[in-house]
Amino acid sequence: MRSEKLLQNGLRLWPSLWRSVARVNMPTVDRVAASRAAVAARRARASIKADLSNGTRTALDVFLVGTIDADSVEASLRMTDFLLSIPALGAKKMESVLSSLNISSRKRVGGLGPRQRAAVRSFLESRARSRGEHSRPRVVVLAGPTAVGKGTIVARILEEFPEVHMSVSATTRAPRPGEIDGVNYFFVSPEEFDRLIAENQLLEWAVVHGTQRYGTPRGPVEESLRTGVSVLLEIDIQGARQVKAHMPEARTVFLEPPSWDELARRLESRGTETAQERVRRLETAREELASRHEFDVRVVNDEVGLAAQQVVDLMGLTKEH
Ligand code: 5GP
Repeated sequence: MRSEKLLQNGLRLWPSLWRSVARVNMPTVDRVAASRAAVAARRARASIKADLSNGTRTALDVFLVGTIDADSVEASLRMTDFLLSIPALGAKKMESVLSSLNISSRKRVGGLGPRQRAAVRSFLESRARSRGEHSRPRVVVLAGPTAVGKGTIVARILEEFPEVHMSVSATTRAPRPGEIDGVNYFFVSPEEFDRLIAENQLLEWAVVHGTQRYGTPRGPVEESLRTGVSVLLEIDIQGARQVKAHMPEARTVFLEPPSWDELARRLESRGTETAQERVRRLETAREELASRHEFDVRVVNDEVGLAAQQVVDLMGLTKEH
């Protein structure tokens, strides 16, 4: 009897005991780093809540990021805090939403099941519609390692949303068979590229894979935004960094492969590069994958249709039915 009680107490105390043991054993450096990370995460969550409250970001946008990317700060928001940060949504409404959608008040945005996700999304969409809220045109930068499938995703998006402006880059590399000047790229000489830089005509540019220069012409991007059209840029990670620095409101999306082996397999089966070129591209890919956390959102390209839909959602596009 006594031993049973002791065991029960032991089990009850176990989590706190474990936490204190872990604290004692954790090296000081790790503890400092962990507490810094916790402070940074709290700050990031507070800044999202502030964006929601002052209308800088829509609730639907924050929700979509949180459900698409489990590693995002948005995913770590408690559903209660998230709903309460939505302008004109009070505690009573928050409670009724959670209970009608069968969601526990302890749930976080990233922890909802598929049915709960769909229900919250449709609640947010109909709320936005009834309040006459529209998403603003935005620049979305799609980056990711070689052969991850950016081209396929882009093609799928343009098929469904031909109104999106896909930026055509300038490059110094030679056209591949079948590539058309002005459609796939603007193929320019190194001298012409120098002139574009000197005249500040590029929004960003970079040397990619250690060989050729690629850059985004500034004019068409600015013109599209002015006329209410969203812009998609498919550029490398150095370019993504530059765009974010010039245009903090742009959204950077990192397309990841389901695994490293799958990435190498996709590159090999594409068969457009020599073995030496493939090695160089995989080296760049390793560096690029290491910087995935610099991006606003990470989308896994496991199933093309789903990944394309997620990028479309992040662009704030919806098909009119
Ligand atoms: P490819 O030579 O295979 O067409 O493209 C090689 C890489 O160049 C891709 O990873 C692509 O994302 C990147 N790239 C294409 N256009 C641009 C651009 O305008 N700027 C930057 N920074 N990278 C680009």
